Parts: sequence; C-alpha cells; structure tokens
Amino acid sequence: MAQTLDGKVAAKAVRLSLKKQIKQLVAEGKPQPGARFIQVGANPASTTYVNLKQKMALRVGLDSKVERFPDSITQTELLCKLEVFNNDPAIHAILVQLPLPSQISEDSIVQAINPAKDVDCFHPVNVGRLAIGLAGPAPATPQGVMLLLDHYGIGLKGKRVTVLGRSNLVGKPMGLMLLSRHATVTYCHSRTIDLVAECSRADVLIAAAGRAGIITAKHVKPGAVVVDVGTNFIPAVDENGQAVLDEQGQQKQKLVGDVDFAAVEPIAGHISPVPGGVGPMTIASVLANTLILYRLIEG
Ligand code: NAP
Repeated sequence: MAQTLDGKVAAKAVRLSLKKQIKQLVAEGKPQPGARFIQVGANPASTTYVNLKQKMALRVGLDSKVERFPDSITQTELLCKLEVFNNDPAIHAILVQLPLPSQISEDSIVQAINPAKDVDCFHPVNVGRLAIGLAGPAPATPQGVMLLLDHYGIGLKGKRVTVLGRSNLVGKPMGLMLLSRHATVTYCHSRTIDLVAECSRADVLIAAAGRAGIITAKHVKPGAVVVDVGTNFIPAVDENGQAVLDEQGQQKQKLVGDVDFAAVEPIAGHISPVPGGVGPMTIASVLANTLILYRLIEG
C-alpha cells in the first residue's frame, strides 16, 4: 500500500516556513514582501483561486491585495494598471489570473509584467532563466510538485522520471526542473507511441495530461512514486453506479486526477491524491515565489 503524498500537510509546512522568514525580515526592519493578485471579470473559478491565494498570502504575512477590474476593461487600460504595479517598490510579486476576456491578449499582458515581479513565471525571460538554471521563480504547479517530493524526502538524482504532458504551464517546466535535479527525464504526450512502456519503467511518474484515469496499474512500476497533477471533473455516481444529484436535480460533478487511484494505490510506493495533493502545493508555491522575487529585488 502506497504512502500518501499529502499536499495539505506539505503546503502547511511550506507556509509555516514562509511565515517565519517573513516575520524575521520584518523584525529586522526590512520591508514587508508585497503581492498583488489581479482578476479581470467575475469568472467563478478565477474568483475561487484568487480568493484562496489572497487568504493564504495574508496568513503567511505578505502585504497582499486583490485588484479586481471589470470584464469591460480594455487592454490599454489593463496595461496602464500593470505599469503602476510594475513601478511600485512595495510590490514584489504580480499575478494576473488567467483566463482574460477575449478583447485582451493574454500574451501581451504576460509579457508586460515586469519579469522581476512575475510570480507565475510565465514571462519568456523567466522561462529562459529557468531553462538555463538561473535563480528566479519557477511555474507554480511544477514547483509545487518539487516541494511535495522534497517534503517527503524523495530523491531525484539518477532516477528515471516520466512526465506525462508537455504544456508550457506544467509538463515542459516540470521536466526542466527535474533535469536540474539530475533526474533522467522522459516526456510523454499525445503522440507517444507506447505510453505503457514509457510510464512503467519510471521510478517517478508525474501525470499532467488532464485525462481522467489515463494512468492505470499497467502504467506503474511496483513501488514507483506517482504524482497526479491532473484535475478533471466527471459526473458523480454512488457505489451502485447511480447518478448523484444536487438540489436542482442535476448530476453532481466530482474532481478526479489523471491516475486511477484505486487501481494504482496498491502497487505504488507513494501516491498523491486528487484533491489534496498537488493543488494545495500550487498555491504554496505562489507564496514561496513571492519571497524568491523579494530576495532578488531587495538583495
Ligand atoms: P494541457 O495544456 O491540456 O496539456 C496536456 C498535455 O497532456 C499535453 O502535452 C498533451 O499532449 C498531453 N496529453 C493529453 N492527452 C493525452 C493522451 N491521451 N496521451 C498522452 N498525452 C496526452 O494541460 P496543462 O495545462 O498542462 O494541465 C494538465 C492537467 O493539470 C490538467 O488536468 C489541469 O487541470 C491540471 N492542472 C492542475 C493544477 C493544480 O494546481 N493541481 C495546476 C495546473 C494544471 P500534446 O502536447 O501532444 O497535445
């Protein structure tokens, strides 16, 4: 039976460490690290993510604020707002919650964030810095996976690691970060010929395809570490296979990962659940990145 890689526990430990470091900085008379989370419009998922980041940021002692702008804001107006945050010395980290309304080019906004304050690590300068191993932030989700593995003392040097997914957000930077920790990395994607063969030789398997249950027992080497990044909503059913309905009579949705947990858990050495695995670590990483940017800016 696998040991659970509990993201709630590991994220709490990360937050505790950050809280201590921030308290120490302030006690030394240094400025408080500042973050701004920008939301455009009222997309419910974005509101949930932004509110959660803000709650956790305040909890660790960041000078953090949510800046909300209407759906109707123009690209030029948003760029002007960003410019103000870019130039404010009290702000060390800026996050623009995606997606943005269709009148705004996400690329233009991402590229307008001062790279020194780019807490999501989406700016091409920071992507490049990550690729060549320079100090700086790393994208929150893969960084969260690294923090989770570190929390449970899972070494990576010389290990065979397979990453399922090659997106700019998760898979690609995940592989780069693993490489920098001396893992032997294999990327898999939708054109991979033999997914079972590639996955089942991995000591560590990281699933980030966004396909519910794509990883089953046959993809996993006995004793392997399995990290499930996927977040997929599927129709909820009870133990008899009947639809679970909400008060309006609509079938409820259930959050699941890319890994068939029930099938894989008995053979894996370690496994992260969904929910409660990588999700909490992603938010902890945003906070950790804020402190990384702060130290680079303040020296
Ligand atoms: P994405 O941009 O859709 O990328 C998915 C990747 O998986 C692509 O590289 C794709 O291959 C590959 N893929 C898709 N279907 C496949 C298949 N049947 N066989 C092999 N490879 C396949 O998604 P993403 O943004 O990287 O996110 C991945 C998952 O992580 C999603 O479920 C997302 O919701 C989740 N996520 C979770 C968090 C969190 O905090 N927990 C944060 C971010 C993302 P191609 O490149 O060939 O198309």
